[in-house]
Amino acid sequence: MSKISTDTGNFIGERLCLDFANTVSWHNSDNPKERLINYGKLVEWSRYADILSSPQQKRLHEKANHHPDQAAKVLEEAIELREAIFRLFRSIAAGLETNPLDRAILNTYLTKAYSLAEIVPKESKYALSFQKGEHELDYMLWPIMQSAIDLLLSEKLDRIKQCEGEPCGWLFFDSSRNKSRRWCSMADCGNREKARRHYKKKSNLK
Ligand SMILES: [Zn+2]
Repeated sequence: MSKISTDTGNFIGERLCLDFANTVSWHNSDNPKERLINYGKLVEWSRYADILSSPQQKRLHEKANHHPDQAAKVLEEAIELREAIFRLFRSIAAGLETNPLDRAILNTYLTKAYSLAEIVPKESKYALSFQKGEHELDYMLWPIMQSAIDLLLSEKLDRIKQCEGEPCGWLFFDSSRNKSRRWCSMADCGNREKARRHYKKKSNLK
């Protein structure tokens, strides 16, 4: 599936957990714009993110239609987890200590994720699978958790960055060779920031 830009997310984070954190626009501002406005959008995003197959997406949609209250609760949990992930990685990107309350939220979801996890053979290696819970409305949360755990335990925390375009707030994993990426996208915040600096320079000359 195309991962470039949808109304649920833009997939510029280079890590699943960061793309999930970016399902809010202007995350660093006083008026962030929520993109996961209902459970259906969470499922749609999960399909774009390749967490769900098309039949899985359809099944979860149908289940949510039969259990709207449960679906609404899952959306609430997804947003709680997402905001904890956002704040944790934002702190890491800024070189600050992470908040124990955010770690506590993550640990709650970690317990649930591990209760569903199984080691399965994958190609010539092994992987964690959460398929045991694939019929549950919250199934998409566990691969996201795994991505967050993998990233937190990795030795590449210095590659986690927050877009410098204010008040964008989007997080990304900088995979550039010399760790020089500064913006969510050059076409978006990069150009805006350049234009702003150019204007500032010009007005300073007057
Ligand atoms: Zn940006």
